[in-house]
Amino acid sequence: GTCQLSGTVRDCSCEYAAVERVNREAVLPVLRDLVRQPFFRYFKVSLYCDCPFWPDDGMCVLRDCSVCPCEDHEVPAPWKAADNGGPTPGCEGSPRLEAESAVDRRVDASTKEHLVSIRGWRGFNNPWMVEDEEDVEYSYINLLMNPERYTGYQGEHAHRIWNLIYSQSCFSNITDPDTCTERRVFYRLISGMHSSISAHIAKEYLLDERAGRWGPNLALFRERLGNPGVRERVENLYFAYLFVLRAALKAGPLLREAAYDTGSPLEDARTSELVRKLVDSEAVKQACPVPFDEGRLWKGEDGEQLKKQLQAHFHNITKAMDCVGCEKCKLWGKLQILGIATSLKVLFSAEDCTECQSAEPQLRLERNEVIAMLNLLERLAASIEVVREMSLQLADSANHP
Ligand code: FAD
Repeated sequence: GTCQLSGTVRDCSCEYAAVERVNREAVLPVLRDLVRQPFFRYFKVSLYCDCPFWPDDGMCVLRDCSVCPCEDHEVPAPWKAADNGGPTPGCEGSPRLEAESAVDRRVDASTKEHLVSIRGWRGFNNPWMVEDEEDVEYSYINLLMNPERYTGYQGEHAHRIWNLIYSQSCFSNITDPDTCTERRVFYRLISGMHSSISAHIAKEYLLDERAGRWGPNLALFRERLGNPGVRERVENLYFAYLFVLRAALKAGPLLREAAYDTGSPLEDARTSELVRKLVDSEAVKQACPVPFDEGRLWKGEDGEQLKKQLQAHFHNITKAMDCVGCEKCKLWGKLQILGIATSLKVLFSAEDCTECQSAEPQLRLERNEVIAMLNLLERLAASIEVVREMSLQLADSANHP
């Protein structure tokens, strides 16, 4: 048997079948279009930081694992202007930010500015991210030119990273029924991202290196996602999807009004239209009104302490991305980890605001955070569809051997 999932997604209150349908009909088509728009296809990232855990022993075997940075003329002009003479990166509490924070909660012109200006590429005020060192070099990468797919990165090198991630102590005894929801949620996000990476490898595999022929690898799919023994990986994929979807919907008021300015008015208008279509989707509200209920978390006595602990583990995972020895994997690894960190920030920002002067929780997102979160959602959405399609093919091939 293949992975036929039925019933309700654990830790959520949505049915698998409804999620699969609404994803296929309403969410994925919008996201596919959205990530092709200029605002969402250029990601500013550093691919050359040292690995803090072991000596770097770069291993890029296939040509397909290297990344080509954008030509200078490709980078959206307003972003370049901001990089070159725009506001200098300020730190928390700089006068500029304080002046703006008063109006942040109203979604207006200055909120818009938050998406496109200050320190547009780093995790700003994101308790789940580690800040890069000051002297790090960044490049803009066109994500469409560097699609996530099979790269040949595997064996002990790749396993070392996954081992490092899964050996974080917060993941020990994770299958224990007494494990608290917070730990489980955290594990399921990472595992869901891992499943998604596997899905894209299975869907776009280099079948014939000489001829440069790419296509689905059904045997690999069966081994990694398509057999009952690893059913949980697919469940975690659905979970991660619903979690990030909830974050995108919660950030809706901000995303809906943000200015997506890349200097191409027509495409930027299309970007806004697509974002609204996503965050205001009636189909999603009907299929799954509350994709994930974040209000249940961190309620225990040791809630704050637990959060700090999980943040520290997440920081290690962030740093592990600098040890990924394949540029393209590192690019998508960093993007997806920032996407998860952004979702965590969106869903738990109210509690993170203890130092804020105002009583009301406020949410500020940077350009790169928005790009990462919605690209991650697109990757997860596409993976759900890969799992559906390839499970059908698998069932078919079993029926007609
Ligand atoms: P792996 O996927 O390496 O898994 C290692 C072990 O983890 C498994 O044996 C299993 O015990 C456990 N495991 C597997 N899946 C899950 C899950 N969903 N949840 C929980 N546990 C699990 N390769 C590419 O070709 N293209 C890429 O873009 C790419 N990106 C990567 C990004 C990162 C950040 C990393 C660390 C690796 C990436 N890789 C990529 C490598 C890829 O993920 C695999 O490591 C590689 O294909 C070898 O796969 P494997 O079958 O040995 O198992």
